[in-house]
Amino acid sequence: MTNQLNSALKNSFFEKENGIRIPLSIPQISGNEWKYVKECLDTGWVSSAGQFVGRFEQCLADYIGRKYAVACINGTAALHIALLVAGIQPEDEVIIPALSFIAPANAVRYVGAWPVFVDISADLWQLDCQKLADFITKECEYKNGRLKNRHTKRYVKAIIPVHVLGHPVDMYPLLKLAEKYNLVIIEDAAESLGACYHSKRVGSLGDVACFSFNGNKTITSGGGGMILTDREEWAQRARYLTTQAKDDEEEYIHNEIGFNYRLSNVQAALGLAQLERLDHYVDIKRNIARRYAAGLKDVAGLTLPQEASWVDSIFWLYTILVEEKSYGINSRKLLSVLKDAGIQTRSLWHPLNTLKPFLKCFSYQVEVAQRIYEKGLSLPSSIGLSENQQNEVIKMIQENNVEWR
Ligand SMILES: *Cc1c(COP(=O)(O)O)cnc(C)c1O
Repeated sequence: MTNQLNSALKNSFFEKENGIRIPLSIPQISGNEWKYVKECLDTGWVSSAGQFVGRFEQCLADYIGRKYAVACINGTAALHIALLVAGIQPEDEVIIPALSFIAPANAVRYVGAWPVFVDISADLWQLDCQKLADFITKECEYKNGRLKNRHTKRYVKAIIPVHVLGHPVDMYPLLKLAEKYNLVIIEDAAESLGACYHSKRVGSLGDVACFSFNGNKTITSGGGGMILTDREEWAQRARYLTTQAKDDEEEYIHNEIGFNYRLSNVQAALGLAQLERLDHYVDIKRNIARRYAAGLKDVAGLTLPQEASWVDSIFWLYTILVEEKSYGINSRKLLSVLKDAGIQTRSLWHPLNTLKPFLKCFSYQVEVAQRIYEKGLSLPSSIGLSENQQNEVIKMIQENNVEWR
């Protein structure tokens, strides 16, 4: 009852603020959130000390199947620290997909390294492992355990596979390349918590992995991130760097430049309560995807997201491609029609290689990313999306199609 009341209040607030009746992706608060946060408030443990940070870390490490987890203030900070513990140096290069949220590209620049953008595959919209292999074998030379980009003369040190929109990247070919060419794999699993690759959870496959608990992700801590690894020394170093590189607590000795990246106890309390509900939320996400697929499969001009046979996607944001000719209007026009009806949708990210800060970076055969970017539209995918709301979205998308009318 209270939960229903809360959600009714929340929805009317959201609508008044934004004119949005059906939001893209908002948090669902339905577990121990109030209880755990109240515990923080009652005990006064609201900041960087308190038991919830450790519990949240342990719970996520257990869920993913990794030895160590280190919490930090957000997913971007997690990527920054992961790059540092992986030993990425200024002027090194790090391979990332051209179609992704900007966080991994920015994090690469934070350590003074340079992103190299590789295209995505046309079917799954994830980092194209074949093109990546071609880049390595045709454009680089491998000598003395180091991979050198022939064009830039810089050394390629790592790959950040970004599991975008809830679907895992094809990791085995990447892991093979990484072994052969001495590269570190840093998984950006921010959008795919709970997804599986050959029955293994994303975040358990690379040398180190990062998650985000931003408000629009599948679970949220208000804001937060996590670094996961099986390497004890990397975990220790991550903890050290996120807490100002403190070598002596009493005398304030710091032998390195550190960061204030630790998650607060209140945020961890929220995150832990959310994590307890994750399996349920993943089921809901998959159900939402099934209903969209059933409702939209016969609409001319739409391409629906695929799920490879070797994965369990969580369909974080259910994203379709809109073909202007056969559908009747393009993705941006459809976005605005839905917006006028109070339905919030979103375009995909601008290909990173075409953004101003990255224009000078090397990019390899980026073609598909541009096409997917132009046609992509992410549909409302909140855990709390009701069947009626979803039917309304489906109906509007059907009715805007030229052939349907
Ligand atoms: C959300 C996200 C992040 C991290 O975002 P924060 O807002 O910093 O927590 C990183 N990578 C990807 C692909 C993301 O979608």
